[in-house]
Amino acid sequence: MAIPMLDLKKQYEYMKEDVDAAINRCLDHQRWIFGPEVSELELAVSSYIGTKYCIGVSSGTEALVLSLRALAIKTKGQEYFDRKDKIITTPFTFTATGDAILRAGATPVFIDIDPTTYNIDTNIVREYLDSHSENVVGIVPVHLYGQSCQMDEIMLLADKYNLFVVEDVAQAFGGKWKDRKLGSIGTTGCFSFFPSKNLGGFGDGGMVATDDEEIAELIRMLLRHGGKDKYNVDHIGYNARLDTLQAAIILAKLKYIDEFNEGRRKVAKIYNDTLKDIEEIILPAEISDTYHVYHQYTIWVKNGKRDELQRYLKDRGISTMVYYPVPLHKMKVFNKRCIIYGSLKNSEKAVESVLSLPIDPFLERNSIVKIVTILKDF
Ligand SMILES: *Cc1c(COP(=O)(O)O)cnc(C)c1O
Repeated sequence: MAIPMLDLKKQYEYMKEDVDAAINRCLDHQRWIFGPEVSELELAVSSYIGTKYCIGVSSGTEALVLSLRALAIKTKGQEYFDRKDKIITTPFTFTATGDAILRAGATPVFIDIDPTTYNIDTNIVREYLDSHSENVVGIVPVHLYGQSCQMDEIMLLADKYNLFVVEDVAQAFGGKWKDRKLGSIGTTGCFSFFPSKNLGGFGDGGMVATDDEEIAELIRMLLRHGGKDKYNVDHIGYNARLDTLQAAIILAKLKYIDEFNEGRRKVAKIYNDTLKDIEEIILPAEISDTYHVYHQYTIWVKNGKRDELQRYLKDRGISTMVYYPVPLHKMKVFNKRCIIYGSLKNSEKAVESVLSLPIDPFLERNSIVKIVTILKDF
């Protein structure tokens, strides 16, 4: 039988009683918009993450857009940033990270990754800011694959240059930097409940975490058309609410998240132990000070053999994925709308070399052994 990237059916079976009960409660009360589960989830996540406020939104992408729009309103007193306003981020991420910066009116500055963690290289961020800080308003670090960026360094630079930090935590719910949960360190933290994420719903959903009351209030307005009263609005808004039904499902799943993240870490450990002697690949590095939640288990395939290996595995019933095949600065949408700082060679090499192997909390040891055996055959 083929091995998928992740097995959502198994996860559902494990939590079926809780999830079904949550859905049934919604069927009973029929309060589909801003039902009680939305604020229950907001409270539960803010106590889990450790921030004063959490605001449910319609997706991880909207969490980023709303954070940035609220920051434009708060810091500039205008609806959008100006094109001259620069926001630093990584080109090795999902499109939505950079797209949110464009949608908020600003210009993304792409800075290369550290190839050992796949996260933005803070040495280059420092170098850029020390020479080009004019008009830089913020940083959007992405905790890729479930591992934290170097948050001490990022917060230090943000302090020094008076920048906001919007954490993209879409892939790292439950991950930590030292003893702090990711999403609680920056000005805001943006989560996604897309079904395949570590904490996924049965459709789209997202959340913003923040300690800043004004930002929280602005986001609450923006997500409901731009005003406290939707029939008399203040700002250019969106319809970006989190559905009651999604909130109820995610709330039911929240109590399993630590167990599931531990399950992912166990799978990663077995991969690490069994793949460690293969010279042709580089295993994911777990850096100190981080609690990696392995949204993906991603290897680096040397010698230009990635595509060949992927095909070999596919022909033998093993699914794999390439996250991501195109760096943001090579996409048409960012053409002439971004700033490229220095060489982005590590990102450009990564898109050709990375391969994510199946990982989920229920991946069994014998499936992992099968994957590893076929990989070694290759
Ligand atoms: C999934 C993801 C998003 C977007 O989240 P959606 O809920 O799909 O809108 C943003 N950034 C990263 C890094 C992601 O992986």
